[in-house]
Amino acid sequence: MKTVLITGGSRGIGRAMVELFSKNGYAVAFTYKNSENEAKSLAESTGTLAIRADSAKEEDVLRAVDTAVKSLGKIDCLINNAGISAFSLFTDISLEDWNEMLSTNLTGVFLYSKAVIPGMVSRKYGRIINVTSMWGLVGSSCEVHYSTAKAGLIGMTKALAKELGPSGITVNAIAPGVINTDMNKAISSEDMAALIDETPLMRIGEPSDVASAALFLASDEASFITGDVLNVSGGYVI
Ligand code: NAD
Repeated sequence: MKTVLITGGSRGIGRAMVELFSKNGYAVAFTYKNSENEAKSLAESTGTLAIRADSAKEEDVLRAVDTAVKSLGKIDCLINNAGISAFSLFTDISLEDWNEMLSTNLTGVFLYSKAVIPGMVSRKYGRIINVTSMWGLVGSSCEVHYSTAKAGLIGMTKALAKELGPSGITVNAIAPGVINTDMNKAISSEDMAALIDETPLMRIGEPSDVASAALFLASDEASFITGDVLNVSGGYVI
């Protein structure tokens, strides 16, 4: 049975991934930071393993990977999904805000990848999928720290894909557009209508749209794809 570790799986896109991968025969472990009740009920309803771990803390990441390996036996696929966003003028971003953004959205991916890669290399098989953002491709005004972290993740994806290809490990990214999750709940209905208007497919995305892309990149059918950034934005960014 194929196994997957999904970070930030308690809600939104990560939750849709937990549901889709478990339905498709994967043994799944997922992490969450705070949402204890949601995580536990998701784990119960899907028969998956919930692990409380802050992606920005090395000791939490090492414990999460160790717990997942003990329970699943191995990690075939790592999905680095956990992330935060923030909306702020560049000059209002404090060093603390900057560090929090980079440590969760970028350093967390470094820590998880570093912890799972030795096992993948020894088995000569692995899939790493990083959830970046269309703003990492084109930049977003008032989200410079978010765009920076997500652009960094694209660089990490491409460089790591080159380094790990000879070991049978693919590394890809998914760049979602506007997706219907808590992350966007502060967007006003007027702003949301404007975003939809600028999207060729005339809707925002659902978490399941991103989960399906991840299921494909994890599959055998995607075995010759590495270092790619799959755009799941309804055409907002082309
Ligand atoms: P969300 O806020 O609904 O969920 C984020 C998840 O990440 C939660 O499960 C949360 O517990 C987890 N998380 C946050 N900080 C964490 C930490 N320090 N340690 C462990 N877990 C942590 O958001 P979402 O929309 O589901 O976002 C998932 C990913 O998709 C993020 O990386 C986000 O940047 C990316 N993304 C989202 C959108 C969108 O429009 N929603 C667009 C592009 C990219």
